[in-house]
Amino acid sequence: MTLDLVDIGANLTHESFRDDRAAVIERARAAGVRQMIVTGSTVDESRAAVELAVQYRGELYATAGVHPHRARELNSQTIPALRQIARDPVVVAVGECGLDYFRNFSPHEDQERAFHAQLDLARELQAPAFLHQRDAHSRFVAILREHRSRLACVVAHCFTGTAEELDDYLALDLHIGITGWICDERRGAHLRELVRRIPLERLMVETDSPYLLPRDLDPKPKTRRNEPMYLAHVLRVVAACRGEDPQSLAAATSATARRFFRIEPAQSRA
Ligand SMILES: [Zn+2]
Repeated sequence: MTLDLVDIGANLTHESFRDDRAAVIERARAAGVRQMIVTGSTVDESRAAVELAVQYRGELYATAGVHPHRARELNSQTIPALRQIARDPVVVAVGECGLDYFRNFSPHEDQERAFHAQLDLARELQAPAFLHQRDAHSRFVAILREHRSRLACVVAHCFTGTAEELDDYLALDLHIGITGWICDERRGAHLRELVRRIPLERLMVETDSPYLLPRDLDPKPKTRRNEPMYLAHVLRVVAACRGEDPQSLAAATSATARRFFRIEPAQSRA
C-alpha cells in the first residue's frame, strides 16, 4: 500500500533535475508523494519554482525566499521582488531563509539582515516561514524571538540539532522538518532518539533533494542524487524510530503539512 506523503522541501529547480524533472516528479507520485513544496533559494530560483508549480497546479507549490548562502546578494530590489512573487497563489511560504554559519558563504551581518527582512515580509503577508539554520542556533533563536509573536506558523526545516535546540524550537512554537539525515547511522544517530520527542502535530518530513540522499538506501542510485521519491524511505525510518505505523505517520505528517502550508489534498489522478 502506498503512503500519502507531502515533501515539504524539494529543490526541484536545481540544475541536477534539468534533464529529467518530469520523470522525477512521476517517480515521486508512484512512491506516494502526492504534493511537494519546491524551495525557493534566490529571487530567480523562487520565480523558477513558481513556474514549475504552475505547471503542476495542486501538486507542486513554491516558497519565495533567499537562502542564507545567498544573503550577500540581497539589495533594495530583493524584498519587493519576493513580495511580488509571493502574490502567486502557488506560493505557500516565505523562505528558505535563516542563518548558516557552517559554510559562511555570506558574511554573518548580511545573513542576519536578510533573515530579519524576510521575517518582516512573512509577518506582512502573514505567510508561513520556511527556515534554515546551521551552526548558528543562538543567533537564530535570538532573532526569531524578536519576531515570533507577529509571525504565523514557522518551520525549522532539516532539523539536525540537539535536544536543547529542539526544546528551544518547540518553546517558540515551531514546526520541525525531518530529512534523510536521520538515515545516517553516524551523523543521524542522536536524531533517531530525538525524533520521538517531537509532538506528532509539529512533525513534517522532507527530502531536501537533490541534497541529503539517505545513506542507508539499498541499492543507492549511482548519481548520488536525492529525489522526492525517497521520502517514503525517510518516513519509514522516522516511523520505526518513533515506534509508529508508517501509514498513519504518513497521514499525520501530511495533514500537518497541509494545515501548515494551507493547501488542499491533491486531486486523485486515477
Ligand atoms: Zn536548508
